[in-house]
Amino acid sequence: MNNMIGHFISGQHITQTQNSGPVFNPSTGEEIARCAYADVAVVDQAVQAATSTNAKKWAKASHATRLQVLFKLRELMIAKTDELAEIIGREHGKTIADAKGEIGRAIEGIEFACNAPQVTKGEYARNVAGDIDVFSVRVPVGVVGCITPFNFPIMIPAVMMAMAVSVGNSIVWKPSEKVPSAALFFADLWKEAGLPDDVFNIVQGDKVAVDAILEHPDIAAVSFVGSTHIGEYVYQKGTSHNKRVASFTGGKNHMVVMPDADLEAAANAFVSAGFGSASQRCMAVSLLVPVGEETANQLRTLIIEKTKALKIGAYNDPTADFGAVISAQSQQSVLKAIDQCVADGAELLLDGRAYEHPQYKNGYYIGPTLFDYISTDMDFYKQEVFGPARGILRVNTLDEAILVTNSHEFGNGSVIFTRDGKTAHRFFMEIESGMIGVNVPVPLPVSYFNFGGLRRSKFGESHLYGPDAARFYTKLKTVSQKWPEPEESDQAISLAFKIT
Ligand code: NAD
Repeated sequence: MNNMIGHFISGQHITQTQNSGPVFNPSTGEEIARCAYADVAVVDQAVQAATSTNAKKWAKASHATRLQVLFKLRELMIAKTDELAEIIGREHGKTIADAKGEIGRAIEGIEFACNAPQVTKGEYARNVAGDIDVFSVRVPVGVVGCITPFNFPIMIPAVMMAMAVSVGNSIVWKPSEKVPSAALFFADLWKEAGLPDDVFNIVQGDKVAVDAILEHPDIAAVSFVGSTHIGEYVYQKGTSHNKRVASFTGGKNHMVVMPDADLEAAANAFVSAGFGSASQRCMAVSLLVPVGEETANQLRTLIIEKTKALKIGAYNDPTADFGAVISAQSQQSVLKAIDQCVADGAELLLDGRAYEHPQYKNGYYIGPTLFDYISTDMDFYKQEVFGPARGILRVNTLDEAILVTNSHEFGNGSVIFTRDGKTAHRFFMEIESGMIGVNVPVPLPVSYFNFGGLRRSKFGESHLYGPDAARFYTKLKTVSQKWPEPEESDQAISLAFKIT
């Protein structure tokens, strides 16, 4: 096997490399390629491209010119959805239907990036004092370093980079080394869409490439999505190198169900949002928090029955509900979390540990696993378990549900199911999460709203997408200007600090 997945710099694919790592098909457990790992010199080469005259021309290009490229990119993404979904599924393990769903959200992000002129246009005030006009302009930050996770090989990069490019920046992107191929496919689409070479560059790799991005003096901003402990590191190191950093990290998303809720709908929502994509979504529902014993007992029965019916399969099995987890290492860490939870005394309702795919015995599968009687002192509660193991944490009152939800270190998404408006209102006013759902299990906002968690689910003050992202990718300048008539020319010296 000599399939080397390489970098993309100045519009060229580069496969020669000193370092590389394996890429697997999680559905079968086979090694399918090698991924080049960039060293400091390769990252520097990419940054040089991103700061070249060609890249700077993009920063100066008109909005209309830039938007033509984005429109074309959108068309290409639609036309090539099937091909891209296959690439994503093969390296990630998610089903083709799920991969197409993420491509749909990527396209939505590109569409919103076409609004860049609307969200970055400045303000103007006439004659603020002494015939002086004041206006603000937003200009590109320069080079943006993007570091992305494995779980959305195209959606997260697309929403991030479409806006960064749309406002005139150039990119040095380090994708997850576990899913490197979708990145190169995306780079080819940008090129075909007419983006000038040098604007969009990819360095594949691991920590070495990430550190080189964080330390490079010519990178102005860094966008990161990934786990909390790496995201915190990226934020601290990047800001200590004087970059603006936006870092979006882990979640433990609580779903509170009130006794008055439609329990059938809530059970369906929990199973879909809990186990979809083998629970490898930052917005996956991690915990069910039913209020009252009767709510808990009824939901438990419904959820066991519905979860048992889920079908596991390879990414290209059209009958599968979800697929393998990303790696053997991830499989082991989820199995370990389940073992620990059993040892800690939770009641194991469904045990997926022994699941084996009939055809792909080496695939990284775990069957759907469900616990009852999770408590807040258990590791299973504290950790983000990134695989199909979910839990029920019983509470007696809404007060307790809010307290439990707010006491977790993460604040990405939280959800309530209820039929009562006052309860819903109290929940979204008091819950400390960035995204809140009321009878909506995955409250992933549409692209024209801001996306980002609170507490340790986000480091930095920006948002991953939405209008705030456009602001993150631009610098604000405020100009005060006066055009006096020659005869009005005010030559007098005045040292007063005045507003007139
Ligand atoms: P990860 O933190 O392992 O990797 C993210 C990126 O960091 C990758 O590009 C990886 O190569 C790089 N990286 C890994 N180890 C590093 C190190 N020691 N130093 C520097 N860089 C390193 O995350 P992942 O497993 O790819 O993705 C899953 C995580 O991402 C979950 O925690 C999930 O909740 C989170 N996530 C968050 C959001 C969000 O919007 N908040 C969205 C998607 C995923």
